[in-house]
Amino acid sequence: MSLLIKNGRVVTATDDFVGDVFIDGEKVHTLGKNLAMKADRTIDASNRLVIPGSIDPHVHMELPFGGTVSSDDFKTGTIAAAFGGTTSIIDFAIQYKGKTFQQTLDDWDAKAEGKCAIDYSYHLAVTEFEPRHAPEFKKVVDRGITTFKIFLAYPGVFMIDDQTMFRVMQSAGEAGGMTLVHAENGVAIQQMIDMLIAQGKVEPKYHAQSRPPVMQADGVARALRVGAFAKSPVFIVHVSCEASMNEIVRSRDEGHASFGETCTQYLFLDETCYDKPNFEGAKYVFTPPLVPKENIEPLWKGLKLGYLQEVSTDHCPFNFKGQKELGRGDFRKIPNGGPGVEDRLSLVYHGGVVERGFSLNKWVDICCTASAKMFGMFPRKGTIAPGSDADIVIFDHNRERTLSAKSHHMNCDYSLFEGMKIKGLPETVLSRGKVIIEDNQYKGRAGEGQFIKRGACAQM
Ligand SMILES: [Zn+2]
Repeated sequence: MSLLIKNGRVVTATDDFVGDVFIDGEKVHTLGKNLAMKADRTIDASNRLVIPGSIDPHVHMELPFGGTVSSDDFKTGTIAAAFGGTTSIIDFAIQYKGKTFQQTLDDWDAKAEGKCAIDYSYHLAVTEFEPRHAPEFKKVVDRGITTFKIFLAYPGVFMIDDQTMFRVMQSAGEAGGMTLVHAENGVAIQQMIDMLIAQGKVEPKYHAQSRPPVMQADGVARALRVGAFAKSPVFIVHVSCEASMNEIVRSRDEGHASFGETCTQYLFLDETCYDKPNFEGAKYVFTPPLVPKENIEPLWKGLKLGYLQEVSTDHCPFNFKGQKELGRGDFRKIPNGGPGVEDRLSLVYHGGVVERGFSLNKWVDICCTASAKMFGMFPRKGTIAPGSDADIVIFDHNRERTLSAKSHHMNCDYSLFEGMKIKGLPETVLSRGKVIIEDNQYKGRAGEGQFIKRGACAQM
């Protein structure tokens, strides 16, 4: 099967020209102007942007959390991702007590296999590290998982101590991998949570009060310094505030391999969402929480200047009805997470390109290319070049639309961005040469998505 996309404005992280893309099977074959190749099918992309399929490197499908399970599984979540122009995701395989790393990855394979609409991988979240785990790092890297995740939050559940942090970072680095960190001061935050509950402060807004930016920045600084001490690259996930970003910048200025991402929710929403009536603040209970509005512009600036490398969603949806409601009367019982995997590419286009004058190249970089490089998938993913996978989005950048739970495809009964008017729609989406989204319909088959064996992480 061959496919010719004609007359689109082809934009990668570095290129920008009006022309054609010829796809042979699953791969991009040739780019150019007025290509003469005969194809089985031709798509006219006039007045459209033709960009690489985007990558969301931080999602949680079907994740057990707080006595319930995130409401998108690998099927519904990856179909929603595809509607949003995302053609690769990286989930988190979380090690439960007593499990080896290999068992953990086998468990996640069992959840994902045969279900995914797009290509996928995992980061391995290490929650327990005893001497018997040490030789496993190399085996995990050989399996194509080159990123390890640790939590400095959720004491008694996922949190590891500083000794374990050092050992994971060192072992990951020696195996050629990178350590991702959920960075907060989990212990001090727990103390604040206990105090708030004892005072009867149980509403959703106290979730945010219990874990303010200063406690995130504390975790970020500690993680980056331990990473420097262990001589290993460190990537901070879901940076929500300027103080944390500044720690990353400082560390990189000192010569360390320190990186970070932010998420769509932190680029558009602020802590006033917790004041919504009728327990609706619970819709915004995720960790880290939304922060004061003054942080939003610095995060956008950080993306523009390369302080932060990419934008993910931390997609981890729970329905308001029946799931978020578990926390009525006790914010500790609200499952942490929100829906987002479908909206990212368009939101960053709208907020970045339309509202703040980002170049199209920069938009593609922070949504598609940087993640491919950071997480060992470039140039197979993240660009349009001869030999790269034909993961391609034909993006109607002039289309105006309103985000809403009524029209989204995520299995979640609310949208974080309900009623927001934005510009831009991923109109046609290709996964390895096959059209999977067209005419606002999913045309693929669940299970066509393949596991991506990742290589070494680039030091950007
Ligand atoms: Zn997460």
